[in-house]
Amino acid sequence: MLLDHLPAGVVVHDQDSAILAVNRAAQRLLGHGVDEVIGKFADDPIWRFIHPDGTPMASTEFPATKTLREREPIADLVLGVERDHGPGRTTSIRWLICNAYPVFDAHGHLHSAVVCFTDCTELKSAEQALQRSEQRLQLVLRGSDEASWDWNLLTQQLYYSPRWWDMLGYTADALPTTPQLWSSLLPEGDRERVEFLLKQVLASEEDSYAVEFSMRHRQGHYVPVLSKGFIVRDAAGAPTRIAGTNTDLTARKEFERRLTESANHDYLTGLPNRRFLQDKLALALAASAESGLCGSLLVIDLDYFKNLNDTEGHDVGDLLLQQVAQRLRTTMGSNAFVGRLGGDEFIVLLQPAADGLDAARTEAARACAQLREVLSSPYRLGRCSHSITPSIGVTLFDGTGVSPDSLFKQADIALYEAKAGGRNTVRFFDQSMQRAVEQRAELTAQLGAALEAGQFELYFQPQFDLQRRIVGAEALLRWHHPQRGLVAPGEFIDVAESTGLIVPIGDWVLREAGARLAAWSDDPLLAKLTLSINVSAHQLRQPDFARDALALVAASGADPRRLVLELTESQLAENVDHTLATMLALQHGGLNFAIDDFGIGFSSLSYIQRFPLASLKIDQSFVRDCDSDPKSAAIVEIIIAFARKLGLESTAEGVETEAQLAVLCAAGCTSFQGYLLARPMPLAQFEAVIEAARQ
Ligand code: C2E
Ligand code: CA
Ligand code: CA
Repeated sequence: MLLDHLPAGVVVHDQDSAILAVNRAAQRLLGHGVDEVIGKFADDPIWRFIHPDGTPMASTEFPATKTLREREPIADLVLGVERDHGPGRTTSIRWLICNAYPVFDAHGHLHSAVVCFTDCTELKSAEQALQRSEQRLQLVLRGSDEASWDWNLLTQQLYYSPRWWDMLGYTADALPTTPQLWSSLLPEGDRERVEFLLKQVLASEEDSYAVEFSMRHRQGHYVPVLSKGFIVRDAAGAPTRIAGTNTDLTARKEFERRLTESANHDYLTGLPNRRFLQDKLALALAASAESGLCGSLLVIDLDYFKNLNDTEGHDVGDLLLQQVAQRLRTTMGSNAFVGRLGGDEFIVLLQPAADGLDAARTEAARACAQLREVLSSPYRLGRCSHSITPSIGVTLFDGTGVSPDSLFKQADIALYEAKAGGRNTVRFFDQSMQRAVEQRAELTAQLGAALEAGQFELYFQPQFDLQRRIVGAEALLRWHHPQRGLVAPGEFIDVAESTGLIVPIGDWVLREAGARLAAWSDDPLLAKLTLSINVSAHQLRQPDFARDALALVAASGADPRRLVLELTESQLAENVDHTLATMLALQHGGLNFAIDDFGIGFSSLSYIQRFPLASLKIDQSFVRDCDSDPKSAAIVEIIIAFARKLGLESTAEGVETEAQLAVLCAAGCTSFQGYLLARPMPLAQFEAVIEAARQ
């Protein structure tokens, strides 16, 4: 009765393994009634047992057989009982956990064997499910880049997955797997930070964390790692285990670095760009303010770079920029910072290391001299060689009261001055430049109102022939500025050009000149004069310039053949087709052309004969030196001879001395203009001069 009420199965075998007794639980668990089993031997074919791994168990391994044979107890053997549910139906397995022992009589003879077993099917399937999920996890982990690890905080046992070792260049378990291992691979700063974080997390109620740090690779470099941990706590909340994964961030860091680099660096040259430079400059200013040491900022622009780009193409231009960047990098030492502002503008920041502004100036001047030398030597660009010169603007700083922005502006202003000063030069920023820039801004604003306010006037500078008779005049613009008085065009023409105001102003000049010629046309002396006006490139670029100009002249009632338009060489070189068409249209309308400032531009001689010209005006610079410098004299002679050969007039302007006049006359120049003969003068005075000549 007792056995029948036990929840465990009990089977008793005799010494030959025939079954003597089975209790109720055993019948249920084995799936056979008492009549079916009594007297059956242990190796009877009705017993089909399997190992935990699913393979069939040999009858010699059955617990009863084994304990009788070996005369030893068997403990906790797990076996499966396959059970048929009838023909055509599936079999199921019941899992049993067995204990068996031999029984001896008083003489020590083996008498029988008792096998006890309980059902552990549920336990077993839970275990199998666990195994399967573990396998799945293993597969997932193996497929991913995450290196798993598991740390038992109670036993201080640690498990590092193969991927964990692999990430650091080791084979699995190449180092002792102690809890100290991972922290010993961290750089010092990271170690303190991570250990502190971990301590805090463990002491809190958090059950997970994520932290980034570096780990030393076997080859010595550091691998950036994202480590995620999940904390297991006991009922009291004390941490017992941390498991997690480490992810290699190398690729992502590289991607991030590239990203910031492309935002901070110039694609073409690899140099830092303006945004990055601004940050750098702010740092340098702060350092300077703190240390009291001075530094400088250099802005470098390549002279006539645009020409190279236009003639040789952008690829060649890019090549040059790359080589310039390379030269800048190698020339400037570690105390300098090099960057590219864009286009052909580069920057060199000399870090604040100079004791006082004078020392900084000396240092900057030395750097500039070095840069000019290095940058001016020829460049090999594919198959051709090219030379270029830099213009450099410099500003000094001592960290007091300037923003990076205004420092950039100062260097820019100095650069502008260097360009205006003839290029291939260096200019240091000073306050007078700043004032000039401010004045220019003011001028721009005032110029807009000047035309409507009637503040412009034409002055007339007489032009003479060989007999010193007045044959014409050049109309030169003057501005009656309400505060500053009479302003010469040198101060405002380029402002008018850059704002586009030159177009309405130019129209006004044309209208005025036309009105003058019309008014003079009744007078026998005045009617013979030509009137030259200056036309700027901006005007000529207007698509309808020819039509508008001809309309203005026609409206004025002037004889167009008396009007000369002065263009510069560079105007002819620019957009040749449009310029030529415009000039031909104007010529067709009766107008004449002169090339102004001839000899200093770079136009090819072949242009000259294509354009409908009446005269060449020799540039003042040659005239100025023609009585003292044989080379200038030679150039003057050649220009005059050249003009004559092409059937053009030659006009010398800026004649200030009798000696110059003599040289020009001897060379065969046909007309003359200059302070020696007459200065530019208001209309009334000009007409008075003519009147005097008439007398
Ligand atoms: P530019 O066309 O070369 O004009 C000649 C300049 O030389 C004039 O200066 C004239 O006053 C000056 N000059 C004449 N003789 C002598 C001399 O013997 N010695 C010296 N040192 N200078 C002499 P200005 O009137 O100041 O004009 C300067 C420039 O402004 C002109 O150079 C011209 O390029 C531009 N400009 C003048 N009026 C106009 C205009 O109506 N429209 C445009 N677009 N530009 C103009
Ligand atoms: Ca002129
Ligand atoms: Ca001129």
